[in-house]
Amino acid sequence: MIAGLRGKPPQKRWFTAQTGDLRLRGWPGVWSGGSGRVWGGWGTAGGAWDRGGVPTAPIADPSPDLAPAQLPADGHVHSQFSYDTNTGDMVATCARAVELGLPVVAFTEHSDLTPFTFYAHEREHLYEPLRSLVPEGGGVVQAPPLDVQGYLASIERCRDQFPQLRILTGVELGEPHRFPTECADLVKAGGFERVLGSLHSLEARGGFAEVSALVHEDDPLGVVRAYLAELAELAGSTADFDVLAHVDFPVRYLPERAKPFSFEAVEAEYRVVLEALAGSGRALEVNTRLPLPSMIVRWWHESGGRAVTFGSDAHAPWRLANGFREAMAMVEAAGFRPARQAHEPWGRG
Ligand SMILES: [Zn+2]
Ligand SMILES: [Zn+2]
Repeated sequence: MIAGLRGKPPQKRWFTAQTGDLRLRGWPGVWSGGSGRVWGGWGTAGGAWDRGGVPTAPIADPSPDLAPAQLPADGHVHSQFSYDTNTGDMVATCARAVELGLPVVAFTEHSDLTPFTFYAHEREHLYEPLRSLVPEGGGVVQAPPLDVQGYLASIERCRDQFPQLRILTGVELGEPHRFPTECADLVKAGGFERVLGSLHSLEARGGFAEVSALVHEDDPLGVVRAYLAELAELAGSTADFDVLAHVDFPVRYLPERAKPFSFEAVEAEYRVVLEALAGSGRALEVNTRLPLPSMIVRWWHESGGRAVTFGSDAHAPWRLANGFREAMAMVEAAGFRPARQAHEPWGRG
């Protein structure tokens, strides 16, 4: 099962659950619990180092030259409630979703509890508003907490304004395995419908440092390997999240000297991550910030992985559902099939 189904069961399962070890909660006979989190929001209608990406020209359409099959949910989107973007805009993102014919969007705002250490010279590589969080001389940055109440109020306004769009609440937990209690409390308080688990930092510099900075030090491939080792810990942890986000995160930031990056070179490490994730019952996110190599989704299938979600990781409205058509074709070719309903993850074919 896919972790995190916690609400009213749909009429039909995405796949046949074979064991009781699945983590999807709220499904009779398969999952226990039922705190209200669901994939679909049953109660609702309908080179830089920043995580938001380089602000280049907008991409007009995520799928101009491919057949108009139903787009899946964009399950990883940021708005003005994420501290690392000044281009996030929940209303404009919803309007963009309607324009694209995207049926479901999940606003998964950041909650990062890990304090990150930046060196002074790294400030210039950061985009605002991240840069202004870093002291002039470098130092430790503690991300501001998510404004849960303000966020939920904004979600409700958007649900009223865009009744044709299914809007899911969500959160992107940074390193939830390091802060299991705090993260579980936040998830409970927010009642989030989609919870992503992410790894953005590694132990370094006497504390923790952002992967986007570490890959610019001496050994980028070593950082990737260290990332995957900790990602396996996260994937197999009991932290309260449903979907493992952006498993190719360090590759976004690699310096030119480390390119082209060979995913084959770290196949063994990826397989450990994916087997831990499959054992946890969680879903794998196909993050479209970069095209995810098809081999990773194939390895996921071979590991027994049961579900895939799609996420643009948009930090601006125009990035919504970017690259989805290509990703859908790739995921289908790897052995997964479209969900019956757009808010559901894709299951095994
Ligand atoms: Zn992230
Ligand atoms: Zn994100």
